Amino acid sequence: MQRKYSSETRIGDQAQVNGWVAKVRDLGGLKFFLLRDRTGEIQVTAKKGSVPEGVFKKVSELGREDCVSVTGNVEKAGQAPGGKEMVPKVLEIVAKSETQLPIDVFGKIESGKDKRFDFRWLDVRDPKLQAILKVKSTTLKHIRGYFEKAGFVEVQTPVIQAAGAEGGATMFPVVYYEREAFLRQSPQLYKQMLMASGLDKVWEIGQVFRAEKFHTSRHVSEFISVDFEQAWIESEDDIMNTLESMVVHSLKGVAKDCKDELEMLGKKITIPELPLKRITYDKVVEKLKKSGVAIEWGDDLEDAQEKKLGEMMRKKGHEWYFVTKYPSKVKPFYIMLDGKVSRGIDLDYKGMEIASGGQREHRVEVLKKVMKRKGMDPHKFEFYLDAFRYGMPPHGGIGFGVERMVEKILDLPDIKEVILFPRTPDRLVP
Ligand code: ATP
Repeated sequence: MQRKYSSETRIGDQAQVNGWVAKVRDLGGLKFFLLRDRTGEIQVTAKKGSVPEGVFKKVSELGREDCVSVTGNVEKAGQAPGGKEMVPKVLEIVAKSETQLPIDVFGKIESGKDKRFDFRWLDVRDPKLQAILKVKSTTLKHIRGYFEKAGFVEVQTPVIQAAGAEGGATMFPVVYYEREAFLRQSPQLYKQMLMASGLDKVWEIGQVFRAEKFHTSRHVSEFISVDFEQAWIESEDDIMNTLESMVVHSLKGVAKDCKDELEMLGKKITIPELPLKRITYDKVVEKLKKSGVAIEWGDDLEDAQEKKLGEMMRKKGHEWYFVTKYPSKVKPFYIMLDGKVSRGIDLDYKGMEIASGGQREHRVEVLKKVMKRKGMDPHKFEFYLDAFRYGMPPHGGIGFGVERMVEKILDLPDIKEVILFPRTPDRLVP
C-alpha cells in the first residue's frame, strides 16, 4: 500500500501512515497513540477484539518517539484531532527509541539551547522548528525565482581562496597542498571579476565563513550569502532597485506558500511598498544624536544604534529601509567613493542589517590608490586587479544574509534558530 501523510488521509481510506509515536494512552481494553509525521498527528485507536491480537499487543509495547508504520482504516472520530482516527490492521515497530530522551522534543520542559543543538535532529521533530526551516527553504526558493525571472545568471565561484576581500584576520585558513589558503568570507572579488566577462548580471548563493569570535544573536561562523553583481549601472540606485524587488518578491512568495507555517508560528508578513525608504547616513547620525544616542559622524553603526534606528523607522511605518551614502572610511576598498561619502548602502530590516553593497570602483588606478590608503598591498590582489585592465564596466551589487532575513521575518531571538547545524566559535559538532 502506498504511504500517505497523516494530513492526506480521508475518512473511509485504507492507508499506510509512517511516523513517530508522540503520545500513548492505555485504558486497558482500549489503547490509543498519536502518530506524528511532518504534516501533523493522527490518532491510532486499538480496541481489544476489534484489531488483530498481535497489533493490540504491539501497541502496549510502544514508547515515545518509536518509529512505526501503521496500515488500517481511517474512521470518523469526533474526539480525535482532525475528527478522524486510524484503526490499525498492521502495526510495524520499525525502530525503537531509547526511553530517556536527551531533550524534550516539544519544549514542555525548556531544554537548554546548547543541548538542543547537540541533538538537533531530535529538536527538529518539533513542528514549530520544522516550520522555521520550511520558511527558510521557501525564502530561498523565491530568491532563486526572482533572479531567474530578472535574467541573472547563476554562478559558482571558489570557496577556497588565496586572499579575501576584507583581509586575513576574519578568514579561516586551510592547508592547501603546500600553501596556505582561506575559506571565502564572501564571493566579492570573484563576482566583481565576472563583470569584466560580459555576463552582465550574475548571482550566487552559497556558504561563506567568518572567523571573528562573535557571540551575538546575529552572527555565526558559517552562513548563506546571496550575492548579486550587476554591470552597466548608473549608480547605487540601480542596485537598491534590484535588491528591493528581490526582497518583495520573496516576501510575497513566503506569505503565499507558508500560510500554515506562519500561522503555527503566530506571524504575519507585512509586504512593504516599493520603493523602500532611503535614508542617508548623515540623516541617521542626526536622528540618533537627537534621540540621545552616542555616535559621531564617521562611526559605523553598531548593533545598539541599528536597533534604535529600527525603532524610530518602525514608528514611521518602515520595517525595511536603506541607509545610503556611508562615510568612505567605514566601507571596504572596493566601494566607490563620492567625496567624503561613498556609494555604499546597507539594507536594514527591523533594526538589523540584512544586506550590504553599493556601486563598486571600476577604475583600476583609483582602486589601487584606495587599497594603499587602506593599508592593503595591491600586489597581493593582481589576479583581481587584472580583471579591471581590459574593459571593466561600472557595476555594483550586494551580499545578503538569508538567515538574518528569516530570523527577522519570524522575530526569532537568535539567527541560530534558522540554521540546522550552526557553526560558532564554540560549536563545531554536530
Ligand atoms: P555586521 O556589521 O552585522 O557584522 P557585516 O558588515 O560584516 O555585518 P557584510 O560583510 O557586509 O556584513 O556581509 C553582508 C551580509 O551578510 C550582512 O548584511 C549580513 O546579512 C550577513 N552577515 C555578515 N556577517 C554575518 C555573520 N557572521 N553571520 C550571519 N550573517 C552575516
